[in-house]
Amino acid sequence: MTVTLVPAPLTLSAPPAPHRPDPLAVLGVPGEINLDHAASAPCARAAADAVAELLPWYASVHRGAGALSRRCTLAYERARQTVADFLGARPDDHVVFTRNTTDAVNLLARALPAGTTVVTFAGEHHANLLPWPRGSVRLPVPAGPAEAVRALDAALRELRRAGRSATGAGPDLPVLVAVTGASNVTGERWPVAELARVARRHDARILVDAAQLAPHAPVDLAALDVDYLALSGHKLYAPFGAGVLVGRGDWLDAAPPYLAGGGATSHVGTATHDVRWTTGPARHEAGTPNLLGAVALAAVCAALGEADRDALHAREQALLTRLRSGIAALPHVVELRTFGPDAPRVGIVSFVVAGRDSAEVAAELAAAHRIGVRDGLFCAHPLARRLLAEAAARSGRRDLPPTALRASLGLGTTAAEVDALVAALARLT
Ligand code: PLP
Repeated sequence: MTVTLVPAPLTLSAPPAPHRPDPLAVLGVPGEINLDHAASAPCARAAADAVAELLPWYASVHRGAGALSRRCTLAYERARQTVADFLGARPDDHVVFTRNTTDAVNLLARALPAGTTVVTFAGEHHANLLPWPRGSVRLPVPAGPAEAVRALDAALRELRRAGRSATGAGPDLPVLVAVTGASNVTGERWPVAELARVARRHDARILVDAAQLAPHAPVDLAALDVDYLALSGHKLYAPFGAGVLVGRGDWLDAAPPYLAGGGATSHVGTATHDVRWTTGPARHEAGTPNLLGAVALAAVCAALGEADRDALHAREQALLTRLRSGIAALPHVVELRTFGPDAPRVGIVSFVVAGRDSAEVAAELAAAHRIGVRDGLFCAHPLARRLLAEAAARSGRRDLPPTALRASLGLGTTAAEVDALVAALARLT
């Protein structure tokens, strides 16, 4: 019998790629609908994996000569570099690891040169209102982005008229503008690049509180020409306890250390005050650092840096539109907003249910529908109160409650979850 050998057909397609889990998939609990990302986002796989990989190597950072310790030191400093790259830091910027955004803003507040005037808007989160020294200028909440730019321009011009401003800031004294990138109440994006241009024109510096912006959009210090930026890891899909202050090194190097202690010094003598503080990020990072927090935060930064941010943005905007139009169709639900219905915003929506206490509604959503939202005034009391008054005037309703509800979307949010919230709200008539 003759056997004919038939050659196997040539295939030009590549062998299937090994399955690579999505580093931006988030961990969660099945059945629980988390619409509270603006408070704290769930942990991304990238962060969890980075922590799991480092745990066996757990050892001191910057303090040991052993292999474990050296690896931990390297991982910590690599994390700093990854965060710097992700945020477009300039070569002479410092990346100081902090506990969170609040800590980062407080650190900068303590590093201000004498005589600095800080200019903020009343719409800020308390973390960007309360740390600033007495004499800071708080501009009213503007009606829109263009008005914010005009108001800042006018305020800085006034401040620069030597000796004539309310605070006495002269032409040569430092001025710091401190603004949010996106509101934690309305999700509205602030015109950061334009505000930075205004600050520059008046020789002022600018800090962007990117706690809510960074989880939703790329932020680049150099491209925006922003001097300082603060963010929290726990809002960026990393675990609690790590944040950053990134920015110009000169004020930070000249300031007293934020914390005094080991790691922040280059020399300590026997006399009580014989101490030389080091410069660079270490000056403000005394004590053993939060290695796992820094590494987890950096892992998410790296994953987001490689992700298709346009696609993530488009997905989130589609969910946001779905949520906002769902809410708009409910006559008993009124949205809170500052800048008008079409202003660019990230996936955050605050609203009230007429005739219903917001804390009760939040509890009911959790108990009856397993939906987690936030209620209250969102650590932005001046803004939230103003928006509640404005919502009452716009809707003509007298039965709006004195606090609000907030739903915030994230990487793991689905259309079904958004629909579940809208359906639950619809039943609350
Ligand atoms: N800034 C904004 C805009 C925020 O939304 C928050 C928290 O919600 C903070 C600052 C403070 O962040 P953290 O509590 O992580 O310090």
